[in-house]
Amino acid sequence: MALVREKDGKRLHVKSQLMGESLVSKQFIESLHIAPQQRLFPDVCLMKIGGQSICDRGAKALPGLIEEIIENRKQHKMLITAGGGTRSRHIYTIGLELGMPTGVIAKFGSAISEQNALMIAILLNQWGGIQISHHDLAKLPTYFTEDIIPVMHGMPPYDYYAIRPAKGRIPIHRTDVGTILLADLLGTKTIVFIKDEKGLYTEDPKKNSDAEFIPEIGAKDLMERDLDDLAIERPCLEIIQNSEVIDRIQIINGLERGNLTKALNGEHVGTIIYRQ
Ligand code: ADP
Ligand code: MG
Repeated sequence: MALVREKDGKRLHVKSQLMGESLVSKQFIESLHIAPQQRLFPDVCLMKIGGQSICDRGAKALPGLIEEIIENRKQHKMLITAGGGTRSRHIYTIGLELGMPTGVIAKFGSAISEQNALMIAILLNQWGGIQISHHDLAKLPTYFTEDIIPVMHGMPPYDYYAIRPAKGRIPIHRTDVGTILLADLLGTKTIVFIKDEKGLYTEDPKKNSDAEFIPEIGAKDLMERDLDDLAIERPCLEIIQNSEVIDRIQIINGLERGNLTKALNGEHVGTIIYRQ
């Protein structure tokens, strides 16, 4: 980058592509040439363990999944995030009734998701599970070298700054979004959402048993279908579609033994949502 001297000769500036730009201009952003994004952790498998769908089932769901994670720990480097679930929904209800702003509701969600992350980390303690926070992300290489399985809460760190939705005050960027953002940051090999249904359907299968299963769909097509309900938080779709490093995500049923292993090995199980 060249240094430029002001006409009066008094000041030096660093000349750069972005100099003098508002960074808002659509035309400018369109014309800006940047290097492709690096994949920081192309050999890591990122997985979110659902809050409502898995953690809340406690002893009925977690031990089996933990066993499967342990079985896979030698073959795969894993980073785990945790959802919030029913306890988040409980405190959201109370907070909303009392007029709490979106930022406070989001803060509640983070705390619950941290509880679930701690629980998963404790269950994995003997096999290298430890709970980490957002500021520990820079230490990931050390964790993987030491065969540690890092477990983190899934909520993105917007907290008090959570963006309010068009309607209501429930934060739209919750633990699915936090996990997708992490995948976009790290450029991980696999991204698996472990939930309690086979994958994505045309409707919530718990509410309509005639809902049709969708084995594979593009993020853009799914956005355009504008389904009333989804198995994954809606903003995830736009993030996948705009990502340079997320090719596909997988939603699997973690209540069925073997699904996680298949997903980690790149097999098509559950629903794949890919970037178009
Ligand atoms: P998590 O525990 O990971 O946060 P959620 O409970 O928030 O998971 O979301 C998964 C649930 O979403 C499923 O158990 C299912 O009942 C519901 N769901 C709603 N719409 C759909 C859909 N179109 N396809 C599949 N599941 C759906
Ligand atoms: Mg959810």
